[in-house]
Amino acid sequence: MDNVTLIRVVAGCLFVATICLPLYFLPSIIARGKRNAKAIFLLNLLAGWSVIGWVAALIWAIMNDAVPVIIQQSPSAAAQLCAHCGKYSPPGGKFCSICGQPFESAILARQ
Ligand SMILES: [Zn+2]
Repeated sequence: MDNVTLIRVVAGCLFVATICLPLYFLPSIIARGKRNAKAIFLLNLLAGWSVIGWVAALIWAIMNDAVPVIIQQSPSAAAQLCAHCGKYSPPGGKFCSICGQPFESAILARQ
């Protein structure tokens, strides 16, 4: 291998490393820190060679993350708190659905 060929090979490698690879993985770079970053990276890596896969990964990376919906389950006001086990039972029952002990209001109503 003569010097000119060696310089061309090195220049080609530098071109690929500095221009082509960052451009190819641009969707993955944009998607860093997002919820679907791994999936976007895989789509970019596996289907990025087709222009459609690359564009799809880019669009996916640019889209905003969906705001996570936080569901808080708290016992409703009508649920009855058992004094024996500390768990909530559905309203209307006279006995705890967890431990089977009668509720205090049921005991008071009997007396
Ligand atoms: Zn109970």
